Amino acid sequence: MIFDSIKDEDKEYVANTYNRFNVAIKEGKGSTLYDFDGKKYIDFSSGIGVNSFGINDELWVEAVCNQAKAIQHISNLYYTKPQADLAKMLCEKTGMKKVFFANSGAEANEGVIKAARKYSFDKYGSDRSDIITLEGSFHGRTIATLSATGQDKFHKFFDPFVSGFKYAKINDLKNLESMIDEHTCAIMIETIQGEGGVNNLDADFIKGIDKLCHERDLIFIVDEVQTGNGRTGYFYSYMEYGVHPDLVSTAKGLAGGLPFGAVLFGEKTKNTLGYGEHGTTFGGNPICAAAALSVVKRLDQKLFDEVLEKRKIIEKVLLESKCINKITGKGLMVGVDFTSPSGNTASEIASKCIEHGIIVLTAKNRVRLLPSLNITKEELIEGLNILKEVIEK
Ligand SMILES: *Cc1c(COP(=O)(O)O)cnc(C)c1O
Repeated sequence: MIFDSIKDEDKEYVANTYNRFNVAIKEGKGSTLYDFDGKKYIDFSSGIGVNSFGINDELWVEAVCNQAKAIQHISNLYYTKPQADLAKMLCEKTGMKKVFFANSGAEANEGVIKAARKYSFDKYGSDRSDIITLEGSFHGRTIATLSATGQDKFHKFFDPFVSGFKYAKINDLKNLESMIDEHTCAIMIETIQGEGGVNNLDADFIKGIDKLCHERDLIFIVDEVQTGNGRTGYFYSYMEYGVHPDLVSTAKGLAGGLPFGAVLFGEKTKNTLGYGEHGTTFGGNPICAAAALSVVKRLDQKLFDEVLEKRKIIEKVLLESKCINKITGKGLMVGVDFTSPSGNTASEIASKCIEHGIIVLTAKNRVRLLPSLNITKEELIEGLNILKEVIEK
């Protein structure tokens, strides 16, 4: 009954930009969720890779509540302790040099785009501002980040888009290299394309881009919005490859459930944006920063080992099914490539999963799993077996 009234109210008053799944979650603990009728779900979505340590996580709740009682907001005109502490921790864990805080992935990407262009402008003047991104990429919903996104379906309705973006083929270094010219200032990648279908970039491709960028003084940007903060079994996914990006954007899992994002600047770019050249009212908000501290603090080797161990469980359980062709992604960023005997699409599978008590995501024609990093092995195995049954029907 409560659900029906929520649904009616939402349909009438909330803008229809989401074709929602037929459920409203009331509360939860860890990776177990409950709807308004008390029905239980195992969560394989973590709010699209946001709730890094699940629902109602003790350390996170304590960090948020304590900061809310101390001071919730003061603006970036003044120093705050959570922001300074978090920036230091992010730099120490990555070797990056400075941090700018934003409120979302798209905003973090606006920041990296501005910083890359500014670096090039300062050094080479105007007319060297093109950024090469990849076909199938996703970088956000603002006009600039839609322009950066290498998918035609996002380049409709909102003309004029921001010029200066070119899209190279994924895992084809020759093609990418052929697109570089005197106007190019940066190359921007996700190491695993999330929204684009959980498509892995080859290690050689990532290393090749790193090399090209450093040889030609192009800014190497890694969008870690989805892959970051422990998701792939590394603090940031690029760290697996021994490469050195000049700019990194992060958001989703960073603050464990609050809207937060960040730009990490490397040695080359650390002083690129000066006083008044970028800003935000909310970015770096003390509650979000305190929440992020409680998350980032726990992203250590022990946790990464657990993430990689859970990955093995996922592959083992799912690949037992004849209907599952392969598992893409890394760590707890999982793409399930399947062939449904009854012809169900990924989103039909996701709807059926809800009826059977698990919450999964989709990415293009794959089922996508982004469970909380601390999901228990029991919850994981129970949920995977349900997913397998749904796919096999
Ligand atoms: C989700 C996502 C974004 C956009 O983040 P928002 O917080 O929704 O603005 C950008 N890049 C990647 C790789 C993402 O997965």
